[in-house]
Amino acid sequence: MNEDEPSAFAPEHIIRTSDLLSLLMPPTSGVGIAVKGLDGRYQLANKAIAKLCDRNPQSIAGKTDAELFPPEVAAQLGRSDRQIAEEARPVRHEFTFPVNGRPMRCLWLKFPVLGSDGAMTSTGAIVLDMSRQDAVAEMRQSLEGLRLTNQELQKTLVSLDQMASSDLLTGAWNRRRLEEAVASEMDRLRRYDHPLCLLIIDIDFFKAINDDFGHAAGDQILTELAAVIHSTLRASDSLTRWGGEEFVVLCPNTTLSTVAMLAERLRERIARAAYPVERSITASIGAAECLPGESWEQWFKRADDALYQAKAGGRDQVRIAPETPQRLGVGENTSANFLKLAWHPAYECGHALIDDQHRLLFGDANKILGAILSARPADEVAVEIDILIGDVLQHFEDEEAIITAAGFPAAIEHAKIHRELVDAAAVFVDRFRTGTLSNGEIFQFLAQDVVAKHLLGADREFFPYLQKA
Ligand code: GH3
Ligand code: MG
Ligand code: MG
Repeated sequence: MNEDEPSAFAPEHIIRTSDLLSLLMPPTSGVGIAVKGLDGRYQLANKAIAKLCDRNPQSIAGKTDAELFPPEVAAQLGRSDRQIAEEARPVRHEFTFPVNGRPMRCLWLKFPVLGSDGAMTSTGAIVLDMSRQDAVAEMRQSLEGLRLTNQELQKTLVSLDQMASSDLLTGAWNRRRLEEAVASEMDRLRRYDHPLCLLIIDIDFFKAINDDFGHAAGDQILTELAAVIHSTLRASDSLTRWGGEEFVVLCPNTTLSTVAMLAERLRERIARAAYPVERSITASIGAAECLPGESWEQWFKRADDALYQAKAGGRDQVRIAPETPQRLGVGENTSANFLKLAWHPAYECGHALIDDQHRLLFGDANKILGAILSARPADEVAVEIDILIGDVLQHFEDEEAIITAAGFPAAIEHAKIHRELVDAAAVFVDRFRTGTLSNGEIFQFLAQDVVAKHLLGADREFFPYLQKA
């Protein structure tokens, strides 16, 4: 426990041992309570016990039965101590004590007190004055007090455990808690083949937000963003603050296609939510499904690589780590089409033909991805690739004519970029046909380099000219 954080780690309902005793042993109680160590010396006793031996309660600690009680009582108590130690069960005795010159009949209930490892640590005793009518009721009250105190202690333990395993700012899990969950979920994956997915969410340009609005505003954004994510997740998903402005969502029993939809929904909600600053807040997301035989580190790295792709691709987007085709089960084929490049109104340049063609290319790229994820044969994937290439050629030709007419000064350079992409595409497609390029690599090139990056990168330079025109 850190000395600097007493408030966080000392909630009001923590009960110290001394307070516990006063709860259990009200000074007015007629019920005696005592605890004796294995060395035969009392560790504590309350007033009712002290009355039996005509002492004050403080002077009992450290004493033995022989020092406190008449010899025949002490001998009996010593025998029962041995019996409790051997048999680990409660015993009862009745004794008569002379108290204030009058005989007092007492019932002693003695029991073993066990430590967390189950071994006996001391002997407990509850002593009742049998002549008192209310003794039993009073004992019941004491036991009820014990039960409630125990509940409080349980709650304290639970909340301490929560605190030790969650992030103080956002309330999300911390790494330790996640790693425990990952270990048990990966075990379930191995044993029952339950699908298991992971998202890494990283706020875009957060350093600049801190620099411009201050760290306190940054903290509020982190809290708000965690709440937005939380409200979007299902009960079985968990949210972890991985570090600074990076979050991890673990989705047990979830296929990659489902998690892709979840990631897209999260991206949208994060971008739409209200934050206490005059700037839009977005996040990039990488997703990966745990593959059979993969380690946590390998799996995490694939999700992290996908996140890196999302950042490199322009941020505010989701990238899914490629999956090995043989892992796709029958049930997943139908949902594979959910994975796609999402078209966004911000990608429009305002020129109807160019925008239509850009949208068409997104659609073509998504069809290739669908074919790959549904594990369709290479020649069927090749058909989709040919359609994309045909549409790209037509589009480049039209686009070059339009931007030249609009007076875009870099039209010639832009046409050169088109030629380079087309040449590279020819090489890539050739390698794909001869089987030296994987599904993932051809898709990466066509969908990301030709379609997404070019449309969202180089093309944006002429957008202002088209809007002017
Ligand atoms: P990118 O889009 O590439 O992710 O850019 P970025 O600026 O978000 O990434 P970078 O990793 O360079 O910066 C992360 C910043 O997050 C740095 C730090 O100022 C900020 N940050 C980390 N932890 C906290 C925190 O607990 N509170 C606040 N307010 N800011 C934090
Ligand atoms: Mg970062
Ligand atoms: Mg960031």
